[in-house]
Amino acid sequence: MAKKEFKAESKRLLEMMINSIYTQKEIFLRELISNASDAIDKIYYRALTDESLTFEKDQYYIKIETNKDARLLTIVDTGIGMTQEELEINLGTIAKSGSLAFKSENEIKDGHDIIGQFGVGFYSAFMVADYVKVTTKALDSETAYVWESDGSDGYTISEGNQTTAGTTIELKIKENTEDENYDQFLEEYGVKSIIKKYSDFIRYPIKMDITNR
Ligand code: ADP
Ligand code: MG
Repeated sequence: MAKKEFKAESKRLLEMMINSIYTQKEIFLRELISNASDAIDKIYYRALTDESLTFEKDQYYIKIETNKDARLLTIVDTGIGMTQEELEINLGTIAKSGSLAFKSENEIKDGHDIIGQFGVGFYSAFMVADYVKVTTKALDSETAYVWESDGSDGYTISEGNQTTAGTTIELKIKENTEDENYDQFLEEYGVKSIIKKYSDFIRYPIKMDITNR
């Protein structure tokens, strides 16, 4: 499978975002949880008009899993998922990500405004992860797809074997540095307090499955 390149401008935006403007790296989790919630909303709204679809409340949730040994943080949702084309459009074009598409370069330099007022989107995952793998199956698609990227070097899309609709996002969390404690994103206390701080209002259950070995 051929690796596709991010557009040059997207690459520059991504580098800026990861390396400079966002000092509060923890907000990546807010972004991924809000995307998961949006994806469940889409099923909810469709069920209002589509009689073949029922919205059984307990079937729809967001689940956070960590595995400290493998340095993996995983966000699972049972939302609407993405088709291959949607994966390509939504995650292949960095400028699509969140508010970055609408901000001029000058505004981006002044990062605090954006943090306060807008979402920064999916790519904020690369602030804390050196590898991201998205497995997704759209409600309307028979096939699941896997999007993988190290954030700088492009991405690949291949077929996956998930059989139910929804999206699983696996983050390979960076190693600690002198300035940054990435381990907090693999620990129950760290993850819980970030969820409480930024995602308390989410209207679907957020389940946790923490392996602290
Ligand atoms: P925004 O949420 O502002 O549109 P993001 O960068 O956060 O920007 O996400 C880009 C797009 O990728 C979303 O609009 C959505 O279409 C898609 N997407 C991201 N995460 C998910 C998910 N968990 N389930 C389904 N679609 C998703
Ligand atoms: Mg978003």
